[in-house]
Amino acid sequence: MRIKKTVLKKILGEEIFKRVKSIGEICEGMSYSCYLIGGTVRDMILKVPQIDIDIVTEGDITSLITNISKKLRLKRVLRSQFGTTKIIFEDNLSFDIAQTRKESYPYPASLPVVEKSTLGEDIKRRDFTINTLLMGITKKDFGKIFDYLEGINDIETGIIRVLHNKNFIDDPTRIFRAFRFKGRLSFRFDRKTKKLIDNAIKIGIIKKLTPQRIRREIFLSLKEKRWHKIVLEFSRSGLLREIGIKNKIARRTINSFEKKLRDFIDIKGNMELTKLLIITENAKKKEIETFSQRVGLKKKETLFLLEMRNKKRWILTSLSKKEISPKEIYWLLKLIPSDGLIYLIIKGDTQTRKKIKLYLDNLKDMKAKIKGEDLKKLGFKEGPLYKKILKMVLDEKLNGGLTTKKEEIEFVRRFMLSL
Ligand code: ATP
Ligand code: MG
Repeated sequence: MRIKKTVLKKILGEEIFKRVKSIGEICEGMSYSCYLIGGTVRDMILKVPQIDIDIVTEGDITSLITNISKKLRLKRVLRSQFGTTKIIFEDNLSFDIAQTRKESYPYPASLPVVEKSTLGEDIKRRDFTINTLLMGITKKDFGKIFDYLEGINDIETGIIRVLHNKNFIDDPTRIFRAFRFKGRLSFRFDRKTKKLIDNAIKIGIIKKLTPQRIRREIFLSLKEKRWHKIVLEFSRSGLLREIGIKNKIARRTINSFEKKLRDFIDIKGNMELTKLLIITENAKKKEIETFSQRVGLKKKETLFLLEMRNKKRWILTSLSKKEISPKEIYWLLKLIPSDGLIYLIIKGDTQTRKKIKLYLDNLKDMKAKIKGEDLKKLGFKEGPLYKKILKMVLDEKLNGGLTTKKEEIEFVRRFMLSL
């Protein structure tokens, strides 16, 4: 199989295509082999527009990077501890380049120990057949696909297949990856892969991962377009239970949540925190605490989940009442961050949504026009009373009583007289 240059240009975009070609030429000049590899090639075959470019060579990476820096305009070169190098071009496009390497795992779920290897070994260390493809970028095999493990067939038939039995034990983040690819691409697992995943989860391998690694995988999954499908897989497989959430998530609940959430995506981005609220929706306090700890959530994020757990029912009930005043709405919602408000809008009835809209459009940024100095002029002594008066003014404004500064001053005067 060979992908035509015209097709490649279209998938990669003119700029990336040009640079990939240049790197191929530089390798050629050094008599190094050079390929695009892994997810990059998978996505190319699926015709997904590219942003992630992974390049591999059997040649010496240091000399290659030196030569690339001489010929292309790079802004930075970043080396990672796992033998990959990120080159960042002056216009911020970036490629990952690595020398072929193999990995070994001293114990289950450990980080890999990396050493140089042949191309064959580099392919064998990968997670699924769909991620093992290579595409030549040197002149003689530009666009040619090298498929040693029948990855093309699995891409075409939509199958996620592991390379070996210890796959998930060596690196349990691959369980998250498997669900991510399944959800993203609507693929299915081959029988053995499914069994290995079930088994790895059952023996508690997830608990061996560090919170940082779990966090990374969870947040990557929540950024996906079909995040709800992936979360459902996490729930059904028992993976969520391993990170603290006991109850299963219902397909209907998460699907309808996702549908409504889409309305906000343009304004609010990925909304990972809102999505965490649906994941932890029926969880007890203790479960949320365990979840937060296993997923390495930050203190602020944990507090957000716990606060929302405590308050959401009360807020939703209060807002669904017709007679609630703007002042009450304001103080009810004031401390809720926007990710929480979106959750409430989605969960609430028509009345509730109307109230939150009123809050966002009219109440949220309302402030008293008078300041401390005005109170001073009116003869109040500086102190805690200032805060109380300003709050009274704000409350009156929220309920529509005061508009101009003059009216506010008048209101405070009347208050003085009543003291
Ligand atoms: P995505 O589209 O989400 O970026 P990807 O498959 O490209 O998915 P990357 O994390 O970008 O994933 O990694 C690039 C390639 O490196 C993969 O396609 C795979 O071949 C290999 N790889 C990455 N992570 C692992 C892992 N945990 N175990 C084995 N191979 C991996
Ligand atoms: Mg990638």
